[in-house]
Amino acid sequence: MSYSYRSTRSSARGSGRRPGGQQNRNRSRGGGGNRQYIDPSRFIKVANPVETQSYEPLNAFTDFALPQLLQDNLAKLGYKLPSPIQDQAIPVALTGKDVIGIASTGTGKTAAFGLPVLARLLADRKSAALIVAPTRELAQQIEAELRKIARGSGLTGAVLIGGTSMGPQLRDLRAKPRVVIGTPGRIKDHLERGTLNLQNFTMVVLDEVDRMLDMGFVNDVTDILSQFGGERQSFFFSATMDERVRKLITVFTENPVTIALKASSASENVHQDVVKFQSHNEKLDKLHDILIRDEVSKAIIFDETQRSVERLSNELVARGFQAESLHGGKSQGQRQRALAKFKKSEVRVLVATDVAARGIDIVDITHVVNYSVPKVYDDYIHRIGRAGRAGKVGYALTFVGK
Ligand code: AMP
Repeated sequence: MSYSYRSTRSSARGSGRRPGGQQNRNRSRGGGGNRQYIDPSRFIKVANPVETQSYEPLNAFTDFALPQLLQDNLAKLGYKLPSPIQDQAIPVALTGKDVIGIASTGTGKTAAFGLPVLARLLADRKSAALIVAPTRELAQQIEAELRKIARGSGLTGAVLIGGTSMGPQLRDLRAKPRVVIGTPGRIKDHLERGTLNLQNFTMVVLDEVDRMLDMGFVNDVTDILSQFGGERQSFFFSATMDERVRKLITVFTENPVTIALKASSASENVHQDVVKFQSHNEKLDKLHDILIRDEVSKAIIFDETQRSVERLSNELVARGFQAESLHGGKSQGQRQRALAKFKKSEVRVLVATDVAARGIDIVDITHVVNYSVPKVYDDYIHRIGRAGRAGKVGYALTFVGK
């Protein structure tokens, strides 16, 4: 099999391992918001890289009621077997139900919503689909994938993203595209100008909903969804399902079917361990020792508050490390510059708060250091998912007091 997947059934870590009665034990530990007790044993795990497990799908692509053209294209693309999210989402989506998919990038989720969307576009000439993605890059990636799968179908599309001129977008929109893919800001722009009308659109996909919310798109997304006319089929994909995501989704779907791949799938590629410390000085020394190790080529360090992030970053610079900080107290320009330096490896160390680090997608981060324990386990999974990307094994080290 050319495409190997982690099994959803052979999870090494069950979801219910949190010891009962201990959840709130250290709620009073500052930082505001609800703090969940996380047993430190959950921060220790040997990586179980993707290649070592494979998923046995229940279906072959030919079992799905997909048009022959799509079947042929899948075969040409060398997609032999459905990925887990495809295996589970496609049959549900083909019945017309709303689908909530909990899956991250790299799981084949684009085709999981793309195939049923394209099948319906081909079957019903009056149908049209809107696909909303948080970033320009993702919107373009989705377009490229759908273009491959729909080759020869004659379906027309438009990509509406910021930072590019309006001319070609307006031209594509005038041709009444059946698939519109874009980022929230530019889609809203077109809606306000009257150059895009969603009244007759029959399908909507929100991809990476959690990231969209992290990036502050909640109002734009809500406005966009409220512009649909009659009945529609909705697809929502998110790497994590937290309260905010749930709230947004439930307003806009009726009786959705949720397909949850293991929320922690990214972490399978990450060696996880704890670092014990007694005092502030010992903690900083231990961090120093970690950062000078040869194998630490690029590290992101999480701390709780803007102030603690700034302080730690300064302390590291004072110790001779090339470090940058990323938190909500910085201007957008400062944040972008810090990120660019980290991305280009001009600095090897980035100290960040959870919120600022959410959208980061840098493939060569080798180490995630949790200088403070995250508030909730979902944040932990989010943090450690910054390492171990693109099939590489990463490392996550979490500091816990002795
Ligand atoms: P995605 O998670 O949608 O970004 O997909 C990740 C990559 O896997 C893309 O390069 C797809 O072209 C590829 N892919 C998706 N589904 C399959 C499949 N069933 N078999 C082989 N490759 C796939």
